[in-house]
Amino acid sequence: MVSRVIPVEEFDLVIFGGTGDLARRKILPGLYRRFLSGQMPEGSRIIGAARADIDSDGYRQMIRDAIAEFGGEEKSDADGIEKFVAQLHYIPVDAKGEQGWKELHDLIRFELVNAFYFSVAPSLFGDLAERLHLHKIADSSSRVVVEKPFGRDLETAKALNSTLAKHFDEKQIYRIDHYLGKETVQNLMAVRFGNMLFEPLWNNHYVDHIQITVAETVGVGGRGAYYDTSGAMRDMVQNHLMQLLCLIAMEAPAEFGADAVRDEKLKVIRALQDIDPHHIVRGQYDADGDEPSYREDAENLKSHTESFVALRCEIANWRWAGVPFYLRTGKKLKARTSEIAVVFKDIGHSIFPGDEKRHRNILSIQLQPNEGIQLQVTIKEPGPGGMRLIDVPLDMTFAEALGPDAEDSTDAYERLIMDVIRGNQTLFMRGDEVEAAWEWTDPIINGWKARNDVPKHYDAGSAGPEDAMMLMHREGRRWREIKG
Ligand code: NAD
Repeated sequence: MVSRVIPVEEFDLVIFGGTGDLARRKILPGLYRRFLSGQMPEGSRIIGAARADIDSDGYRQMIRDAIAEFGGEEKSDADGIEKFVAQLHYIPVDAKGEQGWKELHDLIRFELVNAFYFSVAPSLFGDLAERLHLHKIADSSSRVVVEKPFGRDLETAKALNSTLAKHFDEKQIYRIDHYLGKETVQNLMAVRFGNMLFEPLWNNHYVDHIQITVAETVGVGGRGAYYDTSGAMRDMVQNHLMQLLCLIAMEAPAEFGADAVRDEKLKVIRALQDIDPHHIVRGQYDADGDEPSYREDAENLKSHTESFVALRCEIANWRWAGVPFYLRTGKKLKARTSEIAVVFKDIGHSIFPGDEKRHRNILSIQLQPNEGIQLQVTIKEPGPGGMRLIDVPLDMTFAEALGPDAEDSTDAYERLIMDVIRGNQTLFMRGDEVEAAWEWTDPIINGWKARNDVPKHYDAGSAGPEDAMMLMHREGRRWREIKG
């Protein structure tokens, strides 16, 4: 198969926070993979800018170490690593002071594509934007990439948007949600809008319900004190799960372009109905042997912050009226998995004697740990013995048909960074989308506070609190098994 990668132009990419955890674990190892696949044109540069007082050689060593620690099999390519780190530079910069800005100005080549990745605490975004402007480092063609969390409620998100808007046009702002950079998320759109088969069935006549699960096995560990100020609703639902919900529920955009796609996603968020408090279950994991409980991890023994949330919501429009969407996410669960499942309705009448099982088609989209799409179909069990029906998964990843390219190991971050360089905002959240998502989640979170809602307990390694099971059981449905 011929690979058709859209080339990128020569660029200068500045990574503020270039020495931080995210930069070392994800951004630089990802860029290294892109370099190896020939997508970093010769002459392009990555400029680390952070507080550490090191020089470019010190930074190169830091990134060699980061690739050794966090890279995949490509980390054994010593020659490749040396060529890659030769394209790295570093300038100590203080977002809140004067250090480094003049040097940065002198280094940037304004005639090239230039992008600035804000991989620092959101409290510094305003300072960075201000100083980029003040020192004339960014112009109307520059791009800025901002990390999550984008605010902690509507008010703070609005403030962040207006801070960025002071110096940058919306067309220059790339708000990252790395879930949108996953191969399968894009494949979901290809499956929906590139086939005749699914779209006619994609509505309340044929779909019984939709489930979205993002389960993690890790607890909040070392970042417990920070996490306790956030919780699963803010940390996962408001961004990742709602973005997935939008992609699965949106109408077909007129074209696969940034505003067309984001307009449709926004309409989904705006059509979400207010949630009945009985349709949400929050949880906190218990201690497990030597493993601490959520409250111990959070260093707050009276914490009411949730490490798990499950909810049932509905979208009030013609396509989806009456179809429940069940969302759940949590820490310390049974397995690490992210999955969207579109569960179709039962067949109305079975013509096969003795076949009482409810056969359902289920389209399941796995985002991690292994990306893939499967369609559960009902067929005759092969062999003699009459007409016995079984449900089997049809693998739509098509590894055999596509060969090695089917196993694209591209990490979401590297794909998204390359989209920034290409100037393609389709897989980034627009300011109004983020605000609309907070507008929906704020009353839910405020309601918990007003009612002094206490999260339920759940066992570490389980599927969450019992009440989360009941959320579906009482409607005659069940969650899909959480398995890695
Ligand atoms: P970190 O604490 O590991 O790194 C922070 C970086 O900011 C360092 O490079 C530090 O030198 C730099 N910095 C701090 N103060 C500065 C100043 N005054 N001027 C210039 N640079 C300064 O943080 P991180 O985990 O890498 O997170 C960075 C951003 O990415 C945050 O917004 C975080 O919410 C987001 N994020 C991180 C992860 C992750 O896995 N680490 C995941 C999702 C989002």
